[in-house]
Amino acid sequence: MKINTAEFVISNSDVSKCPKEPLPEYAFIGRSNVGKSSLINMLTGRNSLAKTSGRPGKTQLINHFKINDNWFLVDLPGYGYARVSKSTKQTFQSFITEYFEKREQLVCAFVLVDVRHEAQKIDIEFINYLGTIEVPFCIIFTKADKISRGKIDQHVAAYRKALLANNWEEMPQYFVTSSSEGTGRDTVLNYIEEVNQG
Ligand code: GDP
Repeated sequence: MKINTAEFVISNSDVSKCPKEPLPEYAFIGRSNVGKSSLINMLTGRNSLAKTSGRPGKTQLINHFKINDNWFLVDLPGYGYARVSKSTKQTFQSFITEYFEKREQLVCAFVLVDVRHEAQKIDIEFINYLGTIEVPFCIIFTKADKISRGKIDQHVAAYRKALLANNWEEMPQYFVTSSSEGTGRDTVLNYIEEVNQG
């Protein structure tokens, strides 16, 4: 997919105020600092569409970007600051869970995880939550330039094992990306295009 236009539409923490247009929507979410803003900028080819920041937790809103006038890319707040996770509702801000539970336009969630790290409890908890509310999702491994190809394969295999241990039957669709090298850009965008075309 070629990106012709990518425009910021609205930021808010109120799901009822998200755009009303019935365009398919793809949400990007992950732990703070996972590389979400960099990935969004890499995918859209816009250097500062999503605000990258060394300061974790800066993006605390639901940000809608309209792409090619036919789908929305949604940048959700990073999670992972609560030190003690009591329940999903408390771990993930209520407007985030509300977004996933109510947003009818949502087609697929992209859960970002740093390819260097073993499966983190909070990410698995979030993936399991998406499972319970039946939201389709893919995993995007980020920062692939930081480790070797062999290690990437090992880490992906370990991730699959962690999901199977959590009663998932198979590894979902996943992508290996590097925002600094542009890796995975075409595969992610083509996936979105294919899903949009039904
Ligand atoms: P966010 O908090 O999830 O939006 O993460 P950012 O996009 O702001 O990235 C967090 C840090 O990781 C920044 O210092 C980025 O430069 C760095 N980073 C993000 N993606 C990559 C990547 O693909 N490769 C490398 N080497 N660094 C990355």
